[in-house]
Amino acid sequence: MSPAVNPAVRDRLRIAIQKSGRLSEPARALLASAGLSWRESRDKLFCYGESLPVDLLLVRDDDIPGLIADGVCDLGFVGRNVLLEQAGERAETGKPEMFREWRALGFGGCRLSIAVPEGWQWQGPAQLAGRRIATTYPNQLRAWLRAQHVQADIVVLNGSVEIAPRLGQADVICDLVSSGATLAANQLKPVCDILQSEAVLAGPVQPFGDARAELAALLLRRMDGVLRIRDSKLLMFQAPRDAIDEVMQLLPDAEPPTVCALDGSDALALQTLCHGAMTWQRLEDLKRAGARGLMVLPVERMLA
Ligand code: ATP
Ligand code: ZN
Repeated sequence: MSPAVNPAVRDRLRIAIQKSGRLSEPARALLASAGLSWRESRDKLFCYGESLPVDLLLVRDDDIPGLIADGVCDLGFVGRNVLLEQAGERAETGKPEMFREWRALGFGGCRLSIAVPEGWQWQGPAQLAGRRIATTYPNQLRAWLRAQHVQADIVVLNGSVEIAPRLGQADVICDLVSSGATLAANQLKPVCDILQSEAVLAGPVQPFGDARAELAALLLRRMDGVLRIRDSKLLMFQAPRDAIDEVMQLLPDAEPPTVCALDGSDALALQTLCHGAMTWQRLEDLKRAGARGLMVLPVERMLA
């Protein structure tokens, strides 16, 4: 159970995930629903894959892009904000592009935003000219300022960015926001998003040249199956033939239905996979349009 690196041909896939933090549990849950199971090492830094030759390395999220670049890990679950920041850093320092986003994963959502003191009347990015902006994301901020043709001073901090204006270190900040509560507690307000972020599966730019290629493809197929139906439900109902058109118009997010005739009745039985939320309101609308016996069933897995 050693995580020792073998830079040559490998027949096991190694995935880096955050050891503890916002992305840890959802990453493990997604991998488990893709059929992976593990035996955890005593130091809790390495999980040996039991159901498939896919091992996990538990690390700090900031280390994940570098581990992929160095070939220590093959894939990683990391915030797009971290991945793009480190890609920007490599580009600025002339290092080759070694990792990229393979899939958006639909959890860990947040925005990288410019936040200004609550008293400011925000008129647009030009207002930042000549100001000091505190951030832990200098590369993304620099690229954004360039695209806006705005010159400002970037103050790089490693943490507690939101108190920089109160401490007089900066005029405004550029930081991650989800609910905005932390900003409000520091008398700041978000005025402009420079990145929409979420957790992503990161992988190398170059394809794998050994057994890892097939393992990665298998994992992606399974993860796609899970992600595609994450909010989906199987809807079953009956409806008279002449009501079907109206009922289906209320289901623009549904796959083409399976339709069966019912013995001795003019009604048809339908089943369809719906990708949007199936609320009570929607069911009541469907009933008013003629649907009967509506049933909403959870979908666990899908293999296209
Ligand atoms: P580590 O110890 O691994 O370095 P961390 O403190 O850097 O942990 P977390 O706070 O767990 O990391 O955040 C991990 C990721 O979660 C972020 O990089 C970002 O992609 C995402 N995220 C979602 N919402 C937020 C938020 N409100 N603030 C910060 N990050 C968020
Ligand atoms: Zn971190």
